[in-house]
This record gives sequence, C-alpha cells and structure tokens, in this order.
Amino acid sequence: MLALRYSHSNIETTAFQLAPIRIYSLRIKYFHSFFHISFSFCLFLSLRRYLFSQLVCTETMQKDLKDITGVIFDIKRYTLHDGPGIRTTVFMKGCPMRCTWCQNPESCRMLSETVTNELPLDGAVYETEEVIGRRLAAKDLLQEILRDSLFMEQSNGGVTFSGGEPLVQSVFLTAILRLCKMQLIHTAIDTTGYGPAGNLEAVLPYTDLFLYDLKLIDTNEHRQYTGVGNESVIENLKLIARAGKFTYIRVPIVPGITDTEKNLHGIAELLAQLHVAARVDLLPFHKAAEKKYKRLHQEFPAAHIEPPTHERMEEIKSLFESYHLPAIIGGVQ
Ligand code: SF4
Repeated sequence: MLALRYSHSNIETTAFQLAPIRIYSLRIKYFHSFFHISFSFCLFLSLRRYLFSQLVCTETMQKDLKDITGVIFDIKRYTLHDGPGIRTTVFMKGCPMRCTWCQNPESCRMLSETVTNELPLDGAVYETEEVIGRRLAAKDLLQEILRDSLFMEQSNGGVTFSGGEPLVQSVFLTAILRLCKMQLIHTAIDTTGYGPAGNLEAVLPYTDLFLYDLKLIDTNEHRQYTGVGNESVIENLKLIARAGKFTYIRVPIVPGITDTEKNLHGIAELLAQLHVAARVDLLPFHKAAEKKYKRLHQEFPAAHIEPPTHERMEEIKSLFESYHLPAIIGGVQ
C-alpha cells in the first residue's frame, strides 16, 4: 500500500514535473507551426513579388516588345521534325554563312527578294513573280503562332524559329521569344550558333530547346565550305552547355565534305567532352533545293554531290553511338 501510495505520489510528482516539459513541447510545437506559417507566408510573398515583377515587366515592356519588327520568309504549320510535338516553324531571313549544300538559299539575304516561278498551263509555261520575305511586328507574328496553340498544347509541341540564322535578328528574336514564353509556349531555336555571344545570351532565358548545327570541326574547312570560321560556333555551344540547356545537335551529312572520319570523330569527341547533346540528328544531304536555286537564278553549288546511302548513314549513326551519343537519322521524333 505504502509502495503503491509512493508510486502514486511518484506518478503525480512525475506528472507535475512533466508539466513544464509539456508546455515546453507545446511551445516548440507552436513555434514550429509559427515557423511553418511564417516561412510559407514569406515564400508566398517572394513568389507574389516575383510574379508581380514579371507582370510589371510584361505591362511596361509588352508594348515595346510587340512593336519590334523583323523579316521572315515562311511559316510552316504542323511540322514534326523541328522539336517535340506538333510545331509551328517560323523561317527568319538572313544568314551570315554560305554553305555549299544550303537547302534554303532564299533565306540567306536579309532583305526581301523577288523570285520567278514557272507555271505550266495548257502546254505553255507562264512566269509569275513572287516576293520572298516580309517585315512584320512581333505582335502580328505572335497572333500567327497562337492560331496553332491548340495543336501545340495537345501534342506538347511549340514554336521553332529557324532560318537562315535566327540569331542575325537577335532583337526581334528575343522579343518574339519573350512574347511566346508569356503565353507559356514551348520555344526552340534552330541555329548555327555563329555570331557574338551576346546575341545568344539574350535568347538563352526564353529558349527551351536548341537545335544546334555542327558542320565542320576544322575551322579552315568550315571557312572553305560555309564562308566563315567556326570559333564562335564552338564557343557558343560551350555557353549553352554551361547553361544546361536541352540541345539537339544537327550534323548535315554531305558526302566528301562533312562525312569524313576525321570530321565526324572530331564532332563526336567535342560533344562527348561537353555533355551537351540530348541527341544527335544526322541530316542526310539531298537535292530538293535545286528548284529553289533555279527560281533565284542561282547555281546550286552542290549539284554534283550525290546523297549518302542508307548504309553510310547507319555507319555514321554507329560512330556517334560508340561515343555514347544517342543518334537519329533525319531527326524525326
Ligand atoms: S547556315 Fe543554313 S541557311 Fe545559312 S547558308 Fe548554311 S545551310 Fe543555308
């Protein structure tokens, strides 16, 4: 009994002694809750500040962005080869390179140009003139892009800016990319990477995917076949690698020019070193552009080159895969 009473009083004593601990625990509990609420509140405020700053930026800058103009020469809808999903590809005028195998000769000059089309009709051939290239404001281009937003949303697609070299119109490109991002559209740039680093840095935050051309690893050969050296191409690729941007590398396979073992191993080594390529698209040379050169009254410099065989393309694919680089022939999804 004594023992029980002792034990009972001991319990009371213990309970009594535990009371401050409970209060202390409660305080800790409330402190935690208070901390969580404060932390969440601060997070909410920071988020709100960020979104508000974006909104302010949008409101104050949107008009300026929308009024910037640029020159495009085509818009292709429902494309499947220029990035994930169904895409709208905008072709921009102007290119600093003059590749021997160029498939878009109408893109090279910055200004609009007139071409002659031949129209066979009732045994006669009629000539019509067509102006290639039109200047438009970013807001108008955005409206054209938004026409396809339903397809983009349903297919996880987006918009791709190609050329020519879209970075040539860096201010216009940055403006339209920003406007697209404000509409939550996935953005991609198909670029040679040639030009000042500043042009690339301007578009980096608004570009989800880069389709990046690597043609020739030796700068002298690059100059011989494209008209310019490749120093900035390689430096800008390093910039993209450091930014951790999702990148498809595109290698045109032109027999006798880009398909040498030395060039292909050189490109593969660079890519393996930079860890930049999500995949390598091997684009076989073809002669579909011959008609375009004719319309422009120009000679196709690569008219004598034959497309690579399927077996050769498979060999090249294996070469890149031996460097643990996933490769695709043609760049189809
Ligand atoms: S970079 Fe592209 S658009 Fe420019 S010349 Fe070469 S192939 Fe043509």
